[in-house]
Amino acid sequence: MIDSYLCSMSTKPQDIFPKIISHCKEYGYVFPSSEIYDGLAAVYDYGPYGVELKNNIKQYWWNAMTRINENIVGLDAAIFMAPKVWKASGHVDSFSDPMIDNKDSKKRYRADNLIEDKIAQYEKKGKTDKATALQNALDACMVENNLGGLKALIEEHEIVDETGSKNWTDVRQFNLMFGTQMGSVAETADEIYLRPETAQGIFVNFLNVQKTSRQKVPFGIAQIGKAFRNEIVARQFLFRMKEFEQMEMQFFVRPGTEMEWYAHWKQKRMNWHLSLGIAADKYRFHDHAKLAHYANAAVDIEYEFPFGFKEVEGIHSRTDFDLKQHMEHSGKKLQYFDPEINENYVPYVVETSIGADRMFLLVLCNAYTEEKLEDGSERLVLKIPPVLAPVKVALLPLLKKDGLPEKAREIMDQLRFHFRCQYDEKDAIGRRYRRQDAIGTPYCITIDHDTLVDQAVTIRFRDTMEQKRIPITEILATIQDELSEEKLLKKI
Ligand code: ATP
Repeated sequence: MIDSYLCSMSTKPQDIFPKIISHCKEYGYVFPSSEIYDGLAAVYDYGPYGVELKNNIKQYWWNAMTRINENIVGLDAAIFMAPKVWKASGHVDSFSDPMIDNKDSKKRYRADNLIEDKIAQYEKKGKTDKATALQNALDACMVENNLGGLKALIEEHEIVDETGSKNWTDVRQFNLMFGTQMGSVAETADEIYLRPETAQGIFVNFLNVQKTSRQKVPFGIAQIGKAFRNEIVARQFLFRMKEFEQMEMQFFVRPGTEMEWYAHWKQKRMNWHLSLGIAADKYRFHDHAKLAHYANAAVDIEYEFPFGFKEVEGIHSRTDFDLKQHMEHSGKKLQYFDPEINENYVPYVVETSIGADRMFLLVLCNAYTEEKLEDGSERLVLKIPPVLAPVKVALLPLLKKDGLPEKAREIMDQLRFHFRCQYDEKDAIGRRYRRQDAIGTPYCITIDHDTLVDQAVTIRFRDTMEQKRIPITEILATIQDELSEEKLLKKI
């Protein structure tokens, strides 16, 4: 029997989070950006295992969108876009967050985040009524854009900053876009923006894609790419970054059908998360009280991070707002002729938008497990869904001699084109298992003296630590079956 610390009362979820962050650094998942220069706030680099995990997450999303849906095609639009795009989309005028400064510590915070943290504290202490009342008051302020109201809530609930100070400025709006110049002469240069979301690259290419891929409405365009936001506060590690990646899909539909498609994508996206084997009770839907200027319905998929339930993905019914805005500002028609009803119209759009980095953090938080084993020893294991694991198979010769390393490498040569493998011959086998557990490798293959005789190996499964003897000829099929993306994607 394995006794998981995470399930016991001995380690509080909030105490786990700093451990996850240091584990990421120690095991080559994530490093602070420009670390030798003391880092750059809210910017991170992905190390050898991190880049593999992130690529696997992106690939799993990409396959779920573009492989299983014939009517979803891909796009890779540029980060720089014509400045008018951001005027048309509304970002220049209204892509802002309410911020507040602490006069003593000189630290800047998002006012709504401070209040959300207080709500989470109330919930944790079982003060449900207080939490609900504050949530309602926050929602009302956000809907009405009531900055004075936010300040009043901060004062009323005696919210302090991380140094304990209650000495706050007024709440102000702060635009999140990073501006820069394009052109060689500074005075004549146009100000352009680093895109704050990938969606606009899809909207402005709507007709290019529809015509060249010969898609009929309803159809979708999927894109993975970097986005940049001058987020006010550097907090919560990868949860809120200044440079991050989004995986977005805009689904173009006939006007009037958008609510059906909204319900469809809401469920499909939740199924995608659950297909990875993550427990359903770690997720919940959260309907938006304050709808963005472009939306007629919006919901977040939230996951229970160690610091509480937080958004990992948004599903928005964006109406025809974006296409109409771009028509108006560009003077170009962005319409579709629907042969079924013999009509021209501007399609409505249902968007699914998830952060690759936030999903990465979710996977790690969900995977990080400290276990006490029957013999009293402890093990730290990353129970990453095997399909996402950075290294799938470790090849471990029991000894560094007697032809075992050669045999292990021979097997690895058969597997390396199918899965990411790692060869390790250093230290006792138990320590090597622990090392693989700590990076989340789902399968370890041990090659011993018997292997040379019976052509069989021991396969060890990460989560259960179960060991099985299987013929070398069956390794590939066994692991392929375990990792079958087909089985998982069919659950969506
Ligand atoms: P939040 O309320 O947390 O700021 P948002 O509602 O502004 O997020 P969207 O604009 O809907 O987020 O972006 C879609 C997704 O992009 C989010 O669900 C999240 O996964 C991701 N995302 C947004 N901002 C960031 C960020 N600063 N760092 C990492 N991921 C982000």
